[in-house]
Amino acid sequence: MSPRLSEFELIRRYFERPARGAVLGVGDDAALVAPSAGMELAISVDTLNEGVHFFAGADPRALGHKCLAVNLSDMAAMGAKPRWATLALSLPAVDEAWLSEFARGLFALAGQHALDIIGGDTTRGPLSVSITVIGEVPFGKALRRSGARPGDDLWVSGALGGAALGLAVRRGEVRLPSREIAVGVARRLDEPEPRVELGVRLRDFATAAIDISDGFVADLGHILERSGVGARVRYDQLPRDIALGHLGDRALESRCVLSGGDDYELIFTAPGEHRSAIEALAAGIGVLLTRVGDIVAGAPPAAIIDARGEPLPVLAGFDHFAGRP
Ligand code: ADP
Ligand code: MG
Repeated sequence: MSPRLSEFELIRRYFERPARGAVLGVGDDAALVAPSAGMELAISVDTLNEGVHFFAGADPRALGHKCLAVNLSDMAAMGAKPRWATLALSLPAVDEAWLSEFARGLFALAGQHALDIIGGDTTRGPLSVSITVIGEVPFGKALRRSGARPGDDLWVSGALGGAALGLAVRRGEVRLPSREIAVGVARRLDEPEPRVELGVRLRDFATAAIDISDGFVADLGHILERSGVGARVRYDQLPRDIALGHLGDRALESRCVLSGGDDYELIFTAPGEHRSAIEALAAGIGVLLTRVGDIVAGAPPAAIIDARGEPLPVLAGFDHFAGRP
């Protein structure tokens, strides 16, 4: 750490905030939390490394947001309400302007979800951010990947492909017709909005859920595998980022929509009896929810079909498009 700012000063200045929902937050050998009665704890960790998950020189405020957002997205996919998080930070050097912006992005999102950063670890090394998040979900109510059943509807939140398009633009592979559109897809990539409220509300309806980090087809595949079922997906029904419509490049569009990562939307399954309740839920929380197919008996993978029910040849041998920077 820099001679000007000790490790402890750094932690105090940038990461110690009152922990409103914890018994004890930053500053002791461990944090203390008291889980609410009747709740199970949902725990997950995600690490983002410079040069692997984000570009060197990434905007620190957006990075602070995204590192927490990807973790909150995992909570959303379990139907858990995120309550506490710890932050393990590896820094090549102490850069106070960077730290201040990073903390700003991190705590802004934490504040939106009334989540406390209750501890962490600060070390010197290549830039890396690892966040562990702890959430709560009523006993037996968590949304697992394994619960999809034949006959269930298949749903997806929001719009797909925007983050992958943002990545392609940033890599200089695609040019967009206007700055406004480019800013939109860059935000989709840099500042995903985790669907926490949706996940919590889906506890009563969904049989399975997952968040889209690696692409629609890949992440749907995890539900199908864990549930031992197949799916028929109507390609024309898949909600897609409006920016894709400006490109008129159908191959790029299908790559972004089907295989683009980093959207952090939710894929979930639910029995048909809940259709109208789910539509009401979408209107209630202001999140687009689209029925894109159904779960069928049989083995994965998903069949992606066109409007006439024909398998889409464009997908043959398809692999991950969204290689990371
Ligand atoms: P220890 O030596 O006991 O591991 P540390 O010196 O690593 O303690 O941390 C001191 C306190 O600061 C602990 O409560 C720890 O959880 C917290 N902490 C350390 N780094 C961070 C960080 N990046 N963000 C939040 N809390 C942190
Ligand atoms: Mg420590």
